[in-house]
Amino acid sequence: MVLGELGGTISRALQQMSNATIIDEKVLNECLNEISRALLQSDVQFKLVRDMQTNIKKIVNLDDLAAGHNKRKIIQQAIFNELCKMLDPGKPSFTPKKGKSCVVMFVGLQGSGKTTTCTKYAYYHQKKGWKPALVCADTFRAGAFDQLKQNATKAKIPFYGSYMESDPVKIAVEGVERFKKENCDLIIVDTSGRHKQEAALFEEMRQVSEATKPDLVIFVMDSSIGQAAFDQAQAFKQSVAVGAVIVTKMDGHAKGGGALSAVAATKSPVIFIGTGEHMDEFEVFDVKPFVSRLLGMGDWSGFMDKIQEVVPMDQQPELLQKLSEGNFTLRIMYEQFQNILKMGPIGQVFSMLPGFSAELMPKGHEKESQAKIKRYMTMMDSMTNEELDSSNPKLMNDSRIMRIARGSGRAVREVMEMLEEYKRLAKIWSKMKGLKIPKKGEMSALSRNMNA
Ligand code: GDP
Repeated sequence: MVLGELGGTISRALQQMSNATIIDEKVLNECLNEISRALLQSDVQFKLVRDMQTNIKKIVNLDDLAAGHNKRKIIQQAIFNELCKMLDPGKPSFTPKKGKSCVVMFVGLQGSGKTTTCTKYAYYHQKKGWKPALVCADTFRAGAFDQLKQNATKAKIPFYGSYMESDPVKIAVEGVERFKKENCDLIIVDTSGRHKQEAALFEEMRQVSEATKPDLVIFVMDSSIGQAAFDQAQAFKQSVAVGAVIVTKMDGHAKGGGALSAVAATKSPVIFIGTGEHMDEFEVFDVKPFVSRLLGMGDWSGFMDKIQEVVPMDQQPELLQKLSEGNFTLRIMYEQFQNILKMGPIGQVFSMLPGFSAELMPKGHEKESQAKIKRYMTMMDSMTNEELDSSNPKLMNDSRIMRIARGSGRAVREVMEMLEEYKRLAKIWSKMKGLKIPKKGEMSALSRNMNA
């Protein structure tokens, strides 16, 4: 993932600074220059990068920081805050409410990934218990209805459209009415895109909007345009009441960071990012967790979000309870591996955990990583209940390790490697110790606290 490279450069710069014996002006400047270069390569506007540098230097006045101050921590915090500021539109997005027939209209240029994103959005909500439906009001592009129909069928989401009708407004109204009657709570209307911004497109958008009265209009844009996203987002905002933005193709383009910061500058909240062609390559976008991931600090809320998707509802409180007690046993690791294997694109999930993606899950080696997890699980199948349920690392003595290796047909070295991985994971998850157990629906608030 190209964004991963940006994150990698930034966290390496921070790491280098941390490794320096003394943090002086020169070390700070080197770190800031490295981060600035990475941001400029991502097509972040020069002025934003320059302002970030100036602000950080103002906050981190090395001369004024008395000895004993943790300079590294202060610098890291300042960089974190400035990057958040760069991506923060200063305005929250409207969030549809479950159970009320909510109409969400998608707009954007042709090729931006609009149709794909409509299904991803529907699928995401369906997994969270919503009853979504898709309406294809794109009568401009030949094949648009077929594409939507195909995606919707695959995801088992009801859809509406027509091969014969050429009036997008009529289709949109009929579709919305039908799904309201069927008590769908998220009615998604896909509108036509054009090759470029043109009057006819904006007029059609206005008419569909007028007729369907959407609760939310989502503008979909391709991240490859980088900072040019500012003009595009402005143009759409001026024609129709854009309430939120989804930035697609963050997996393939070096300019993703630039696009995100440019959209923020138009004061439009980005709510999701597209990270691949598949239905589940779609992530909630939240500034703080996103930046913390960029800085290699992990993204707990993204991870928790994924957990909510795959850990059965009734098991979530139990898992959180165990974690809150600081009891990360091998059995929990086993169960989490099972869940992770169900989660789809595995690298995506792991990249949300601090320190994880690079080691257990190197990018581009997802198949091997998956095989590794399965291997670990085979070894754990040869463990006794006592071993699985203990959180005492001393229990795993040589004779137990040898027995597990024999039982699973694996080398002793491999069992030891698996146990090392367990220790590493237990350390990461120990951050969960003492967390308050959330009530239903409070998971995201909890995870946001953890990122704070
Ligand atoms: P539309 O014309 O705006 O409706 O665009 P489509 O939904 O047809 O998408 C155009 C192309 O972009 C298709 O090949 C999609 O598979 C691809 N696409 C959409 N979103 C993403 C994404 O997040 N990442 C990648 N790599 N490709 C995407």
